[in-house]
Amino acid sequence: MEIITSIARMQEYSKEAHMRGLRVGFIPTMGALHAGHMSLLEISQSCADVHVMSIFVNPKQFGPSEDFNKYPRPLDNDCELAKAHGCDVIFSPSPAKMYPDSFLSEVSVGKITNSLCGKSRPGHFAGVCTIVLKLFNCVAPDSAIFGQKDAQQVIVVKRMVEDLNVDVKIIVAPTHREVNGLAMSSRNVYLTPAEKIAALSINKGLLKAQYAFKEGVISSESLVELVREEISSQSILTLEYIEAVATGTLQKSLQVNEPTLLACAVRTLQSKTRLIDNCVLGGNL
Ligand code: AMP
Repeated sequence: MEIITSIARMQEYSKEAHMRGLRVGFIPTMGALHAGHMSLLEISQSCADVHVMSIFVNPKQFGPSEDFNKYPRPLDNDCELAKAHGCDVIFSPSPAKMYPDSFLSEVSVGKITNSLCGKSRPGHFAGVCTIVLKLFNCVAPDSAIFGQKDAQQVIVVKRMVEDLNVDVKIIVAPTHREVNGLAMSSRNVYLTPAEKIAALSINKGLLKAQYAFKEGVISSESLVELVREEISSQSILTLEYIEAVATGTLQKSLQVNEPTLLACAVRTLQSKTRLIDNCVLGGNL
């Protein structure tokens, strides 16, 4: 496995791979890798020949009061884990290389970035789109794999790719969970033991809604209420939002008669961790 920090070297690596007729699969991450990230690497292995994982904690997608400084950065462990799972390249440029002092550009997608997480994280998705497009230009992948756990991110990136004619196939990976149902996240390390237990209510609520939908409940408010009830039963969690929205437009849905994203964000009381999770009813992302 090669660890690349230079943008020029990354571009050269992909150019050489393409000249040899190899397909480049790409997994963008912020590191603190876990089994969820490895599941994306596995998907890359089924659809590409060489596998590039980026590790870059992107300052532009963090708000001023968010956890950019304390975000975990265990780079050596990450490299070992990625290597053991068949990653070919870790691309880990420095912030100064990605955002030199002269940097002025921003990629922003309208409307669908204002709802759900966008409401409480202004500028977040512009930060995401800017880095994803930059990484695509460094890595020149044939396909890129994103996790459904960050559902709004996938929807926004897909819109950007289509709108701007970016020649990269976006593949969505299912949310990888702990055996107890908690969605894996690099931020789970912040959770206290009690918060870890309370956070199980998130997936429990989502499963209740999925079951009710299978049993014929299509009222979005009823399905949302099932999740709200579960999460609200935990006094150490604060629900930031729980919403049912059409996957295409991210507009609120009244009834689930088209693919509907049931998505929520929760904050924990003690460690102030923000957790997100979701499920899709009646289709896929
Ligand atoms: P992050 O490092 O948290 O920015 O995530 C990098 C990529 O991994 C994103 O596409 C995430 O959606 C994806 N990812 C993170 N956690 C999971 C998970 N539990 N299951 C599947 N994909 C995930």
